[in-house]
Amino acid sequence: MQKNEKSIGMTRRYFLKTASGAACMILMGDLFHHVSAADVFTLPPLPYPEDALEPVISAKTMSIHYGRHYQGYLSNLNRLVVGKNYAEMALEKIVLTTAGKPGEQLFFNNAAQAWNHAFYWKSLKPDGGGDPPDTLKQKIEKSFGSVETCKKQLAEAAISQFGSGWAWLVSDGNALKVVKTANAETPLTEGLKPLLTIDVWEHAYYLDYQNRRAEYVQAVIEKRINWNFALENLKI
Ligand code: MN
Repeated sequence: MQKNEKSIGMTRRYFLKTASGAACMILMGDLFHHVSAADVFTLPPLPYPEDALEPVISAKTMSIHYGRHYQGYLSNLNRLVVGKNYAEMALEKIVLTTAGKPGEQLFFNNAAQAWNHAFYWKSLKPDGGGDPPDTLKQKIEKSFGSVETCKKQLAEAAISQFGSGWAWLVSDGNALKVVKTANAETPLTEGLKPLLTIDVWEHAYYLDYQNRRAEYVQAVIEKRINWNFALENLKI
């Protein structure tokens, strides 16, 4: 599917370069509107309506976060990959391939932010929080001593991340642990398996909480965190 889209996109560009009839260009533009090379990475739907996380995260925040910030990373990536091997790669592969390479930083930043956000939407749910499912709870107790300690470490990581970034619950071999990353960085590149994440870029909470990041983090952990998603990831 991706290969077809790409080849049709190239055909369109060739046509637009060579065609002289304005009417034909309008027709072709319309025909290929949805299949240009810039549509390799498309916006997956949110797993819930934009207002589903209220009042912890407002519909306005979700709308701008999902529709502008997240879309922005995917649009940037689509522009960047035109004519590159990356256009044929899965998002995760681009992240792993470009990590730590100074010349590839733009690819990494946009691909990793696209991956991180898709993971973040799933890390939240309308009726989240509460106790983790039993299998996950036992793993958490083995690694952290208690669910409360795990939540406390996750909150501390999210609150103490200086500037933009992410707090993560990850699986490291047999143990679970909490890590934080800056900007677009992701535990994937450290060989860790992400289980869930909290976005602590200001755009994730500023409209609702202004500078009170701790309030956003506590509300997310207590009321919106998706422990079932973490358990699914643990089983993979
Ligand atoms: Mn974000």
